[in-house]
Amino acid sequence: ENSLPFEAKPRLLLLGLRRSGKSSIERVVFHKMSPNETLYLESTSKISKNDVISFIDFQIWDFPGQIDFFDSSFDLEIILERCGSLVFVIDAQDDYLDALNRIVDTVVIASKFNIKLSYEVFIHKVDGLSDDLKIEIQRDIHQRITEELMHENLEDIHMSFYLTSIYDHSIYEAFSKVIQKLIPQLPTLENLLNILCSNSNIEKAFLFDVMSKIYIATDSSPVDIQTYELCSDMIDVVIDISCIYGPKQENEENGSENTSYGTDTYSVIHLANSMVLYLREVNEHLALVCFLREENFEKPGLLDYNFACFKKAIEEVFEVRRRLAQGLLPDSDDV
Ligand code: GDP
Repeated sequence: ENSLPFEAKPRLLLLGLRRSGKSSIERVVFHKMSPNETLYLESTSKISKNDVISFIDFQIWDFPGQIDFFDSSFDLEIILERCGSLVFVIDAQDDYLDALNRIVDTVVIASKFNIKLSYEVFIHKVDGLSDDLKIEIQRDIHQRITEELMHENLEDIHMSFYLTSIYDHSIYEAFSKVIQKLIPQLPTLENLLNILCSNSNIEKAFLFDVMSKIYIATDSSPVDIQTYELCSDMIDVVIDISCIYGPKQENEENGSENTSYGTDTYSVIHLANSMVLYLREVNEHLALVCFLREENFEKPGLLDYNFACFKKAIEEVFEVRRRLAQGLLPDSDDV
């Protein structure tokens, strides 16, 4: 099987003030909770560990509270060393000055432990705001953080900003971009997707983490949000159908309901506008979802064949990644 060892998974830490929306993001993205239900979420103060089977590994921390960044404990050092990105969640509907101070303080500490960290800011809960206000808030936050980092002589630190909400696909888009930065093989994956698209006349192809519907790579044609939404909705459809009609799988370990998404899951949906959605499982975490014209789907065998080649190549890419993580290969940037 293709399961990656802990060390090889993209790992991130979600940080923010209490009530900024961190648990809601986790529930909606990784546990399929509907956004409205998050209104009744209890605030949890324990460090929450990701307990879903996903390609992505993450933890959530509240600040202040769980961690005192000025007490540079051993744990913090280890966690930051292993981490790929720090994702800061800011509640855009609230006064955010305190949150910005926390972010800068955190970057000052974290950058001492791990110079390779990437820093991401989710300007969150923007669903209630007008487009003008969104842009204004993003500009203001960007400017304040940049100024503060300059004061700390950290002007080399690069931060990326995303406008997010759990009520639409923006949170998935943002996560996708964050995760993609943590995948060193991204150019290889994109290349493989490009080859697949051109050989099979596919309009758009995404490689999705099935549990979270975050895409970890796509071909290099521009992402059209509607196509993305269709492809990601298809994952829900396939999972729902296979939960009802697929083979039953018990998961005794954690008692969780199983998605029944398994080896060789495969599905085709013909849309009314003569487009076709094609989903195919790549490994236990990942699925390929393609969007193509019906007239280019007349020889599904060709697509099946090209998919088999694609799948084999992906396996090889992750095999290299696994070996690197286990120290079986010398570390190298160009693998
Ligand atoms: P945490 O303490 O950072 O984990 O925050 P919670 O996840 O408990 O969220 C606090 C509140 O924010 C909840 O009532 C959520 O329903 C709400 N919330 C979270 N995300 C969003 C969002 O994208 N838009 C809106 N309008 N509310 C959100």
